Amino acid sequence: MKQFQFEYTGDPELKKEVAKIGKWCSSRITSHVVFRIFTELQDREQILRICDIFARVMPHSIYYGCSTNGNILSGTFKKSDITITCTIFEYPTTRLKLLQYPLTADNYRETTAALIREVEANPWVTAIEMLTTIRGMSMTGFCEEMGKVRTDVAVFGGGAFSEDMNDNDACVFSKAGGYSEKAVIFLLMGGPDFHVKTDYLTGWKPLGRELLVTRASGSTLYELDGKPAYDTYYKYLRIKNDENFFLNTLEFPFIYKLNGISILRAPIASNEDGSLTMTSDISENVHARIAYGDPWTILDIIHEQASLLRKFQPEAISIFSCAARRTFWGDEEADRETKPFQEIAPTSGFYTSGEFLRTNNILNQHNVTLVITAMREGDLDESLPAAETARSYHLAGKVSMINRLATFIEAATEELEEANRRLRISAMTDGLTQLYNRIEIQRRITDCVGTFSQSHRDASAAGSDICLIMMDIDNFKKVNDTYGHNEGDAVLRGLSHMLTEVLEQNAPGASAGRWGGEEFMVLIPHGHLDQVISLAELLRQRFHEIPFSHAGHCTMSLGVTEYIPGENADIFCMRADTALYEAKNSGKNKVIARPK
Ligand code: GH3
Ligand code: MG
Ligand code: MG
Repeated sequence: MKQFQFEYTGDPELKKEVAKIGKWCSSRITSHVVFRIFTELQDREQILRICDIFARVMPHSIYYGCSTNGNILSGTFKKSDITITCTIFEYPTTRLKLLQYPLTADNYRETTAALIREVEANPWVTAIEMLTTIRGMSMTGFCEEMGKVRTDVAVFGGGAFSEDMNDNDACVFSKAGGYSEKAVIFLLMGGPDFHVKTDYLTGWKPLGRELLVTRASGSTLYELDGKPAYDTYYKYLRIKNDENFFLNTLEFPFIYKLNGISILRAPIASNEDGSLTMTSDISENVHARIAYGDPWTILDIIHEQASLLRKFQPEAISIFSCAARRTFWGDEEADRETKPFQEIAPTSGFYTSGEFLRTNNILNQHNVTLVITAMREGDLDESLPAAETARSYHLAGKVSMINRLATFIEAATEELEEANRRLRISAMTDGLTQLYNRIEIQRRITDCVGTFSQSHRDASAAGSDICLIMMDIDNFKKVNDTYGHNEGDAVLRGLSHMLTEVLEQNAPGASAGRWGGEEFMVLIPHGHLDQVISLAELLRQRFHEIPFSHAGHCTMSLGVTEYIPGENADIFCMRADTALYEAKNSGKNKVIARPK
C-alpha cells in the first residue's frame, strides 16, 4: 500500500498530479487506486468537476469524499479548502467495492438492509469505511441497524460537516452515486492480505460525581438528577448561558458509559427551559459525569496510543476527528494531536460532525472523539526493530496542574461517595440487631401501602397480600433483671439473627425492623394471610429452640394481620399491635391473627 497526499490548487494542477500518479502506477503492480477528497467548500459544480478529472484521467480509479469542517493532511490541519489522498493498493488479493445510498430518517432501514445484503454477498469484506451526511438527523436507529452487519467486519467513518459549524448543510459524493446532501458512502475493503486496525480515544477524563440523566429525548438533554440540565454547568463550573457557552462547555462535555464504552456528548446550546441541545443523541437513565479536557493529559494519551499503533506497522492512517476538537485546540495547535500519527504512517482525515466506530459489535456515534483506523497490506515485517512500548509523553515526569486537581477531586469524590453510602446504611440500621430501625421499617410499610393504593384505586375490599408480623419477647424484663443487660442483648441479637435467616429462606421480599426495645416488625409485601400465619408460627418455634447461655430457652408472642385496602399505614400497624396484645393477654408464646 502506498499513499500520496496533496492539496487541490486548481484543475490543471490536479490533472497533472493525477497523471503523475498514473505514471507511477504503470511501472508497478497495483490492484486499486482510490482517491478520497475532503472539502471545506460545498461547491457542487467544483466537486463534480474534480470527480470528472478522476473519471477521465484515471478511469479505473475509485473516488469519493465529503464536505468537512477542516481537513487533515500529512497529520496536520490544512487550511486549504480541498485536500486529496490517493491510496494505491498493491496486493492483487485486496478487494474493494464502493457503494452509495440515499440516507434520511425515513429510509435508513432500507439503506442498512441493502448494505447488509452486499456484505453477505461478498464474504471477503473485512472493513467498511463510511462517510455520511447526518446533519439534523438522529443516527440512533441507523447505528442500531448497522449492528446487524456481519460481526467480523470493522465499521468506521465520519459524518460530513460544513465549514461553518452552525450550518446544517453537508454533502457526500462518489463515483458510485454522484453528489448528494442526504446519502451515505460505504467503501467495502477486504482480502486475505488486507489488514485493518481501529481505535478511538478522547483524552477527556471524568470529573466529580455521577449525575443521572432523568430526562432526555433525541439530542435534547432536559434533566440531570431531576433538575434542568443547564443548572449543572452553572452550579459546578459557573458557565454562563452566553455566546461563549459552546466554547466554555467544550472543555467539559458529559461522559457516560454506553454498551460498555465511554461516550462523550458536548452541549451545543442552552435553551430557555434549561435544557441543553447536545452534539447528538443522549440516552436516558445513564449515569453521566462532567469530563474535562486538558491538553497535557490528552497529548499523553495520544502519544501512548500512537506508540501502540506502531506495532501494527500501518501503511496509511485515517483520522475522523470531532470538529469540536479543532475548536478546542485552535487552528494553530490542532495538529499537536494528529501529528504523532504521521510519524508512523501517512495520516489523513477530516473534522467531522460525528465519529463512528463499531466496538463490541455495536456501531457507536461518538462526539469530541478521535476515531483512528490503520491499514496495511501483507504480513507484519518481523525484521523491523520491535516498536517501542508505550512511553509517557511527559518529560521529567511533569503532570499538569489541572490533572493533579482533577485527581484530587476524583479521590475526594470517591471518599465522599463512600462516606455517603455508609451514612445511608447507618441511617436506616439498628445498631444492636443490624435490622432496619423504626424509621426505616415504618417508611417501608408506608411506601408499600402507598404503592398498593396507587395501583388499586378502585379495588374492592379483597385481600391485598400485604401482611405484617409484630412480635415481642415474653417476660424480657426478667431476663435483664436475672441475668443482666448483656444477656438481654444476646437474646435480642439471637432473635434478630434467626429472623434474618428464616425470612431469607421463607419470605425473600420481606423486611424486618426493630420496632422498639424488644419488639420487632416484619413486612411481607407479597404473602397470603394463611402463609404468613404459618411463617409466624415457624418464627415462634425457631426462637424457642435457641439455647441462650444463661437465659436458656425464651419465648415470644406474635400478632399477624393483612392490609385492608383503603386504610392507612398507622391503622394497619395498630391492628398488628392489637393482635400481639391479644396473644400476650391469652397466655403468651403464641400467634394471633387479626382479622381472623
Ligand atoms: P411482656 O411479656 O409483657 O412483653 O413483658 P416484658 O417484660 O417482656 O415487657 P416489658 O415492656 O415490661 O419490658 C421490656 C424490657 O425490655 C424493659 C427494658 O429494660 C428492656 N429493654 C429494652 N431495650 C433493651 C435493650 O436494648 N437491651 C436490653 N438488654 N434490654 C432492653
Ligand atoms: Mg416483652
Ligand atoms: Mg414490649
